[in-house]
Amino acid sequence: MKSWADLSIGQPRKGRENPPLSLFNTASQKVEALERRDLYRLYVCGITPYDATHLGHAATYVTFDLINRYLRFSGSQVRFVENITDIDDPLLERATRDGVDWHDLALSQIELFRGDMVALHVIPPDSYIGVIEAMETIIASISALEARGSLYRVDDDLYFRVRLDPEFLHRSHLTLDTAMQYFSERGGDPARVGKEDPLDALVWRAARPGEPSWPSPFGPGRPGWHIECSAIALHYLQPSIGDEFAIDIQGGGSDLTFPHHDMSASQGLIATGQKFARMYVHTGMIGLDGTKMSKSLGNLIFVSQLIKDGVDPMAIRLALLGHHYRQDHMWGSDEIGDATILLDRIRLNLSKVDVAPTQPLIDAIVQRLSQDLDTHGVISLLTSWCIETEGGATGGSAGELSRVLDDLLGLAL
Ligand code: ZN
Repeated sequence: MKSWADLSIGQPRKGRENPPLSLFNTASQKVEALERRDLYRLYVCGITPYDATHLGHAATYVTFDLINRYLRFSGSQVRFVENITDIDDPLLERATRDGVDWHDLALSQIELFRGDMVALHVIPPDSYIGVIEAMETIIASISALEARGSLYRVDDDLYFRVRLDPEFLHRSHLTLDTAMQYFSERGGDPARVGKEDPLDALVWRAARPGEPSWPSPFGPGRPGWHIECSAIALHYLQPSIGDEFAIDIQGGGSDLTFPHHDMSASQGLIATGQKFARMYVHTGMIGLDGTKMSKSLGNLIFVSQLIKDGVDPMAIRLALLGHHYRQDHMWGSDEIGDATILLDRIRLNLSKVDVAPTQPLIDAIVQRLSQDLDTHGVISLLTSWCIETEGGATGGSAGELSRVLDDLLGLAL
């Protein structure tokens, strides 16, 4: 799938030794420093294209963009892959409800998503991969699972035995009751008669009348959700074979922790013998009017609508940076307005000939970001620098600060 327009990212500053990036790893439940590497492999779960980018999506993709930018700024390469779930039950259900062709709906929403990512200044993935175009890769992954005796049939559907992975549920830290509840709420089928374990994961859904299907050695059908991500990640990120882990970071919203990431990781491990991800990084949920912002509740704020209403995309990005990425929070009606005022203030100060010292500010921004992406702290630092500059302090370089804000925070000012 075509990715979106590339952005030029500045070269890492010569002579800079940035602190290692520390992030909260859901699997260990600790903030851990990422070991320094020349190359990091980053996989972020993409959208199911039936309602492109609401603020919850934007917060997630901006967060992983910050990680990508920090690692590049520190002199490493980042191989970044994102998928698109362009065939799945929710997409078919929405297309049927609205009386449109499912494929047309997907393409239109993917196009909208690309436009939103460009506007928000998110670095595009090296590989942006739809399930349909990756069908052969996914089928090969299912065949690998079958060769290891980890699959069984219920009618004509294929299921994966999650318990073959000794670490199943250890990454998500859920009790069995909560796991069952989430599985049922998030697309699973714990009650299906014929399953060996209620939590076993569907990897191949045999063709049903009226549904799109693809040929495979297991009969015509389409893949389950979790296998698509492990297959795409392992194929396109090209894991280093000798490493304990296939990839460095598996990312997404906290609602993907279970079942999606846990089951993808189990399938990756059983298919290849290599542990899936070094770190599992999850973003908090954004709510509106007292409840989680979600498609099913219909209480979404769309990035494209905000931009159409005249909001500067950089104000959206700045507003998102005002919250810590892991924190669930309610979206306030004044957040865009406040961020717009701050954005104008930073721009005005950056346009001055004499500005407050910038090197200590840049060092402090790097420090804050390295500590589990303390963007809230970064905003406080920027506000203090504005106050100092407005107070007549001098000695800084507005050009240098402007470049760093663009490179590190993705703020094009
Ligand atoms: Zn995924």
